[in-house]
Amino acid sequence: MVDSSKAHAVLLSSPGLGHLTPVLELGKRLRTLNFKVTIFVVSSRTSAAESQVIESFTSLNLCEVIVLPPPDISHIIDPDATVVTRIAVLMRETRPAFSSAISALSSPPTVLIVDLFGTDNLEIADEFKIPKFVYIATHAWFVALTLYLPVLHESVKGEYGDEKNGLFIPGCMPLQPEDVIDPISCRSDQQYLESLNIGIKIPMADGILVNTWEELQPATLAALRDHKLWSGISKVPMIFPVGPIVTPTSPTDSNKTELFEWLEKQPIESVLYISFGSGGVLSNEQMIELAYGLELSQHRFIWVVRPPAEKKSRDGSFFTVGNSINANEGLASNLPEGFLDRTKNVGLIVSDWAPQVEILRHQSVGGFLSHCGWNSILESIANGVALIAWPLYAEQKMNGALLAEELRIAVRPKTLPWKGIVGREEIKMMVETLMAGEEGHAMRGRVKELKSSGESAWNHNGSSAKALAQFMC
Ligand code: UDP
Repeated sequence: MVDSSKAHAVLLSSPGLGHLTPVLELGKRLRTLNFKVTIFVVSSRTSAAESQVIESFTSLNLCEVIVLPPPDISHIIDPDATVVTRIAVLMRETRPAFSSAISALSSPPTVLIVDLFGTDNLEIADEFKIPKFVYIATHAWFVALTLYLPVLHESVKGEYGDEKNGLFIPGCMPLQPEDVIDPISCRSDQQYLESLNIGIKIPMADGILVNTWEELQPATLAALRDHKLWSGISKVPMIFPVGPIVTPTSPTDSNKTELFEWLEKQPIESVLYISFGSGGVLSNEQMIELAYGLELSQHRFIWVVRPPAEKKSRDGSFFTVGNSINANEGLASNLPEGFLDRTKNVGLIVSDWAPQVEILRHQSVGGFLSHCGWNSILESIANGVALIAWPLYAEQKMNGALLAEELRIAVRPKTLPWKGIVGREEIKMMVETLMAGEEGHAMRGRVKELKSSGESAWNHNGSSAKALAQFMC
């Protein structure tokens, strides 16, 4: 039993806003339970949003935040390496600096919590003879897949995407070939080996904190606790579902008064919000189709637009890190001629970055076309907003499948956005289905139920509140 008056949790976050914010928010939750909390963040602070998040969190004076500069990995990494490979290698190479930084702390840690990419740092806990946990800031399907990967690695011979009947993972719907997540889609790629390594390392932990809640994924969580289902895995650590952990405010450095004035004037649940996360961008061709699709649908929208990517990256989509692009430059030239003018009464274009949490919270917003990052999904659920699932990279395809097939709160395009161009007619149809159709209405009903179950999970005696309290014991 941890004596919470002396408990000192050390957390480690990998770079990227999508990794950083859930770790900071977990830190806040632990602080409310009287933990002393020190959060180590590996960050080069090259992203304005990331820097801003760190600064505003530090100013709360709740937890100590220590930024570890990323080690130079240029000499050990293929210049063409994927984001997953880069982050995994970066976090592994951070280990000596992290270990020294822990030794230098004025009060010794009593528990270590690393995020998904930090698993190579778990062994540091043994040096300090303290318990070690992994915080997986996404959902239970992803936990199950990652833990099961060493078994799949032995039992499946070819590529996972060639398994016509899908992949069997305990507690999950079969993962269809088209939903196989990017990092494991090519077994000769280093990012596959990095994912496998994470799957091998997680069982070393004393437990897994996961950003979901009992009522959202009861079957998968039950399966994760049923040891009979996991033969071939050395150990499935204890699972603590502590979600939804969402950021209460957006990192935003610009005044968006105009945007909220516009939203105020729109009817309730009439606006579709469109955003591809902190780094996702579309091809030029796809941007044009999306613009035409929105225009054809005649529905109201707010679209966070970034300049299109010039070349396809190895992440299977178009990815830029951070929000350093000056999106005002030639924004109109990336959209169909006259689009801004023709849609000026129904649509609002925001360049590069928007206060997403506040937008989703607004009563005029009735749908979210999202790249399916888990933070975006939780922010949508927390505000009772149903989605159009438009995955781009990383584990987003699986997230899209979870939303559409199990939770049934999202429409999915038939054309796979990472393989081809989703055409304007299909976009128009999806927008109409979500915003005006019966199916969309039913999804809104379901997502509102999930919203309230997420709130209840954090009530006194709620499932997540209990799980976090149990984690302390
Ligand atoms: N976000 C934002 N404004 C934007 C784009 C993103 O505030 O214009 C925030 C969003 O609210 C979420 C995070 O950035 O908290 C993105 O995390 P997510 O896991 O959804 O996707 P990632 O960017 O990691 O792919």
